Amino acid sequence: MCEFKKTRRIAIGGKGITRIIGIGGDSPVSVQTMWKSSLIGADIQEIARILSELEMLGCDIVRFAVPDMESADILLRLAEITPMPLVADIHFDYRLALRCLDGNIAKIRINPGNIGSRERVKSVAGKARDTGTPIRIGVNSGSLPKDLQERIESVRRSAGDVLQARSAALTETAEREVAVFDELDFSDIIVSMKASSVGETIRSNREFASKHDIPLHLGVTEAGPVISGVVKSTIAFSRLLEDNIGATVRVSLSDSMENEVIAGREILAECGKRNGGVRIISCPRCGRNGFDVHSFVNRWQKKLLGLDKNITVAVMGCVVNGPGEGKHADIGITGAGDTVIVFRKGKTVRTIRVEPGDTAGVDAVFEEELGLL
Ligand code: SF4
Repeated sequence: MCEFKKTRRIAIGGKGITRIIGIGGDSPVSVQTMWKSSLIGADIQEIARILSELEMLGCDIVRFAVPDMESADILLRLAEITPMPLVADIHFDYRLALRCLDGNIAKIRINPGNIGSRERVKSVAGKARDTGTPIRIGVNSGSLPKDLQERIESVRRSAGDVLQARSAALTETAEREVAVFDELDFSDIIVSMKASSVGETIRSNREFASKHDIPLHLGVTEAGPVISGVVKSTIAFSRLLEDNIGATVRVSLSDSMENEVIAGREILAECGKRNGGVRIISCPRCGRNGFDVHSFVNRWQKKLLGLDKNITVAVMGCVVNGPGEGKHADIGITGAGDTVIVFRKGKTVRTIRVEPGDTAGVDAVFEEELGLL
């Protein structure tokens, strides 16, 4: 039996045109990303367009850094024109949180520890309660309280279990922050404990989840470029999700928001936490290839993942093995030399001749066949 508590459900969004997303309880695990540049000087119509593309890829929530009042004002204007739930990420200045709470912001991310006096935290919690806005407490291993850092150092000096000490410190930091909100009788909270180490992330989240019913936002911080970031996040999330720990996830990458979202949704799908949508299977390609799998996948990945269909698409490198290996796919494509073959459930439905390098011709045929599904 699972030793971890079922979490409370926190509803975010739901103001103005924003969609409501449940975090925790029986809600599906959601996927988040974070906007990667400053809001100042940005075209908010263009941001809204990109947000709707991210939504098509499977993104449920997007967070924005709010380092100053100008950014807060722009975020409020953006929240008026997009249904995407927006999260304001705030450090140090509680007045930025108060300003964001004036508008259609779905969630605030703060740490009471860096917001300052109890009175300031109280004023943010009070206004969040009035506006029905949840707060995420985001704790990072890089900014632990001084006494806990000293405790870790003393474990290190005595050659003790530093990983255990670090993960316990991360959990304790989160619990201290939660206690601040408990005292204020504010329970609309979500917690994240992020470390750049997979082991620390797993241990601290497990420890927290064994004691609290607060929904957890999972993330490995400073995870790195695509390959290392996806590997770290996959290991950490899958081990936690297996125990039903984690209500929302963000794969942090030194890469695009699109890839963060795609990685998040793929992890959830493989962990059985997300059903439906398009699944792409494609062969790695080898010396038998007669069809440029890599180029086709690069051209089609985002478009396919953005489709509102529940299908499997196979992209295979050769006619010898391709249709057979992709026989469970609803539609597949492969080829040999100047011939391109489209198949369904392993059976050829279309064979066409294309000039070498005529990717537009290949795409047009595939698009046509896809439209018939
Ligand atoms: S499908 Fe064909 S090209 Fe692709 S890996 Fe298998 S044998 Fe090689």
